[in-house]
Amino acid sequence: QMLQAVARRLSAGVRPGDLVARLGGDEFAVLLDPIDSAEASLAMARRLLHALQQTLVINGTELQPGASIGVTLSDLGYRTTDEILRDADLAMYAAKAGGRHRVALFDHSMHARMAEKLKLEGELRRAIGEGQLSLVYQPLYDLEPYRLSGFEALARWTHPERGPISPAVFIALAEESGHIEALTHWVVDQAVSQLAAWRSAHPALGAMDMHVNISGRDLANPALASQVQSTLQRHGLPARVLTLEITETTLMGRLETALGTLAALRQLGVRFSIDDFGTGYSSLAYLSTLPIDSLKIDGSFVRGMSEAPQNVEIVRAVLNLGRSLGKKVIAEGIETVEQLATLQAMGVHVGQGYLLSRPLRAAQVPALLGEPVQAPPQVGALLQQVP
Ligand code: C2E
Ligand code: MG
Ligand code: MG
Repeated sequence: QMLQAVARRLSAGVRPGDLVARLGGDEFAVLLDPIDSAEASLAMARRLLHALQQTLVINGTELQPGASIGVTLSDLGYRTTDEILRDADLAMYAAKAGGRHRVALFDHSMHARMAEKLKLEGELRRAIGEGQLSLVYQPLYDLEPYRLSGFEALARWTHPERGPISPAVFIALAEESGHIEALTHWVVDQAVSQLAAWRSAHPALGAMDMHVNISGRDLANPALASQVQSTLQRHGLPARVLTLEITETTLMGRLETALGTLAALRQLGVRFSIDDFGTGYSSLAYLSTLPIDSLKIDGSFVRGMSEAPQNVEIVRAVLNLGRSLGKKVIAEGIETVEQLATLQAMGVHVGQGYLLSRPLRAAQVPALLGEPVQAPPQVGALLQQVP
């Protein structure tokens, strides 16, 4: 019914000779023929967008349709309809990337960027297969008493020509191109096998846990739970040592598809943490019912504590929320002794950040284990360790 309503709005918005068609799914195409100028086509696109956004009532439910519109012009010398649709499509993706409800006009740089992206995508696919990816491990510390409590595995990709590529770039690329399942599978396997190796070499590591980040598409992957289960079995580790981190935005945006996967993993005993907490919109009603063990306060609030007192209040609010819901609270991005002291005084359970330790190569970790297990919790002592 919504698609029909959208179709009616589009048809009503164009001129008598123009053509409106549904390409499939929720994609529509509009052919404006003739059109005088780029400005006229953009103006039409904005009018259509405006018409689409008016509230729609279906079966008593109010909906607000939205759209991203890509525009291309016939004077670019197209030979086939496919070429026109391809460029309009590229422009539409550019509009989408700019945010919701936007219009973008095609330009040739979009081809270059798309080609570049496709190339990198192919290289990433090969990188996953050829072992160019690696993991670093950033320690997590209980704050009271102060002691090493676990690690977060973070993926790294060193491109043979371009050097290190940021996870923010290649994780998004893997999500878009459908390689994330393979990447996540690899990361889980690698991190679990590393923890198993540490545990057998250093019995003190018995209680450490391993955090692994997963993405939105992983939550919709019905094979994830069984993959995780067989990985844990293969390495002889109990499921409770594995915590999967999901960002708040991803989790809340995909609750419907996530619930089944969360339940299956929870059944095994795997734990969950909400990453970057405070940057998205959590449904508090859901938060109390979801199988979440910890809330990881986003580093931006931790870093902002000294500049704006409201950040301290946000951290305190998350801490109270965690306490009342029975969830641990982890602070990430701790960079200064002042931040650490404030968090410790407030009673935050677990901390992570460059001050405590940078992400480490696996080979650097055993040296960390040699440190006294009960490192002094006083900030004064920590101060001396900071270069
Ligand atoms: P995240 O899970 O929130 O990880 C924390 C990021 O903050 C990491 O960046 C870490 O290196 C950095 N960090 C740690 N301590 C500090 C600090 O004190 N100050 C500052 N400024 N930064 C700190 P990184 O490794 O670049 O990862 C970025 C994001 O990429 C991660 O955010 C995570 O969402 C994603 N990511 C990384 N590895 C994986 C992976 O294997 N799978 C998935 N799905 N996502 C991953
Ligand atoms: Mg994380
Ligand atoms: Mg985070």
